[in-house]
Amino acid sequence: MNPAGPLATGPVFSDETVAPLAPWSALLRAGQTLTIVDVGGNQSADFLVFNAHDTDERYSVPDTLAWQGNAYLREGSVLRSNLGRPLMTVSGNEIDRQDTIGGACSKESNTLRYGFHTEHQHGCRENFLAEAARHGLGARDLVSNINWFMNVPIEADGTLGIVDGISAPGKRVAVRADVDVLVIVSNCPQMNNPCNDFNCTPLRMIVTDAFPTTGSDSA
Ligand SMILES: [Zn+2]
Repeated sequence: MNPAGPLATGPVFSDETVAPLAPWSALLRAGQTLTIVDVGGNQSADFLVFNAHDTDERYSVPDTLAWQGNAYLREGSVLRSNLGRPLMTVSGNEIDRQDTIGGACSKESNTLRYGFHTEHQHGCRENFLAEAARHGLGARDLVSNINWFMNVPIEADGTLGIVDGISAPGKRVAVRADVDVLVIVSNCPQMNNPCNDFNCTPLRMIVTDAFPTTGSDSA
């Protein structure tokens, strides 16, 4: 197992491993930070985030990207809701850029893109649905997501690609909760394109508490 620890300074609240192909979720209190470790390298972590107290308020790609004026997520990116409010902030990031345009794979899209022989494979959408159901959420609650560690370069003419990853074993991203949030993750099962390097590997989820008495705000 990879020795990398949290990409945040507070005390460790929980430390879990997500098996390849599996979903995961957690409730985070405002101020807690989730570090996601790409244990094996180039493993896409498909990610959704909701306001824990009102799940009608959820992650919004256009609000996030339009507000920051950039198509990639990097350290300092604020993950905004459909109401334009901050849900989480990227507080640490060890790869050049993170994707929130490439979307999530599904059983249905796999059969269209790669053929009917892939029909038995579940995708991120099925993982999201299974994990969302544990929190009383369903298909109508699934919105466009973030793909941590997936490489979706935007070419000069606007073309999108899903190509070989730019991550590596032990690379990390950290997101701090700005309000109480529900996070749902799919450890992407995709084996038909290079998004997971054709080798699905575990993810490690480390939640750290904020230090209790810092007088300063997150400037
Ligand atoms: Zn996927």
